[in-house]
Amino acid sequence: MYDHRSLGRELDLFDTDPLIGAGLPYWLPAGATVRHALEEYVRDIERRAGYQHVYSPVLGKRELYEISGHWAHYRDDMYPPIDVGGEQAVLRPSLCPHHALIYRSRSRSYRELPLRMAELGGMYRSELSGVLGGLTRVRAIQLNDAHVFCAPEQVADEVRGALDLIGRAYAALGITPARYRLSLPGAGQKYAAAPEPWRRATELLVDALERSGIAYEAEPGEAAFYGPKIDVQIADAAGRESTLSTVQVDFHQPERFDLRYVGADGAKHRPVMVHRSVIGSVERAVAHLIEVHGGAFPGWLAPVQLAVLPVTDAEVPRAREVARQCLERGLRAEVAEPDRGTLGARVRQARLVPYQVVIGASEAAAGQLAVRLRDGRRFAAQPVDAVIDRAVAAVAARDAELWAA
Ligand SMILES: [Zn+2]
Repeated sequence: MYDHRSLGRELDLFDTDPLIGAGLPYWLPAGATVRHALEEYVRDIERRAGYQHVYSPVLGKRELYEISGHWAHYRDDMYPPIDVGGEQAVLRPSLCPHHALIYRSRSRSYRELPLRMAELGGMYRSELSGVLGGLTRVRAIQLNDAHVFCAPEQVADEVRGALDLIGRAYAALGITPARYRLSLPGAGQKYAAAPEPWRRATELLVDALERSGIAYEAEPGEAAFYGPKIDVQIADAAGRESTLSTVQVDFHQPERFDLRYVGADGAKHRPVMVHRSVIGSVERAVAHLIEVHGGAFPGWLAPVQLAVLPVTDAEVPRAREVARQCLERGLRAEVAEPDRGTLGARVRQARLVPYQVVIGASEAAAGQLAVRLRDGRRFAAQPVDAVIDRAVAAVAARDAELWAA
């Protein structure tokens, strides 16, 4: 595995500036392209799994976090409040309270449940500067988050559905979990009281893990303050573990926000909140993808998907025309012109680009392309459209295989 910080700089993916501040990286065009493709992918699989997306602001009144319990249990990780016209606003430490309010903004019927609300949204953590580095420990986080508001009898299916979504995303992204951790409360005042909801929530998580056939290790002291959780752990280049994805069962916040739905019996009932994240924070997910793939991202995530290499200046107009056709078909293509070096040098520069197409005099005359893949495979010259069709199909299918047989 690689270190994402050095590779991130080498590949022009992201960087930092002391004037912006530690733990506040910015994304360069290549990194922004990977991030955008990843975010689109997540929204797409969520839509197909019945989630609805919302947007909510990154600020909220301090009172909101007093109600949610964050102020009492999580204040040390939050930024100090900002005074605005006599009111105190807080940079949010999580998205849950906003989503609880969106749920509460309309009267809800049991027919709407499970109501799956998703957002890729900003949240903030006042990490100490000593622990900040690259994309893994940051102070501004873009979280892939969702809250499923459901009836108690729907929780088990929703937890299993979330675990299934995580498994499918990992397969598409080429990520292997280090282990699944059942994170339980430990000693101390960090956790919301009331033992009975904790017991029920833990039981539901264990049951979902076992029915999904997933091996796990229980670990006290790692729960959220409002409930136990399943954490999907990944390991970095140095073998350090961190949490990427999570599924949590929460009886606490529905109580705090007095959430209700009208049941089939016409009476009011309390929903349960299942918090889940498929890829965790976008920052940590991209850091991990950089390390796992060494910058050779799956074709559909690659910043440049196809490099066009004219052999001499004479083939440059034809190469530009091919790149234009690729762009029109949605492929991210770039021409590596002869002024960048010999053909061999340009092939090496494009070593992380999934598709490299070479145009010499004979290919230009015949309207063909000679194809090389990133993995070293080469194919005889074939018509431009056939090559583009094949690359477009592999990218659209988010196929791990670049050149399906
Ligand atoms: Zn949440």
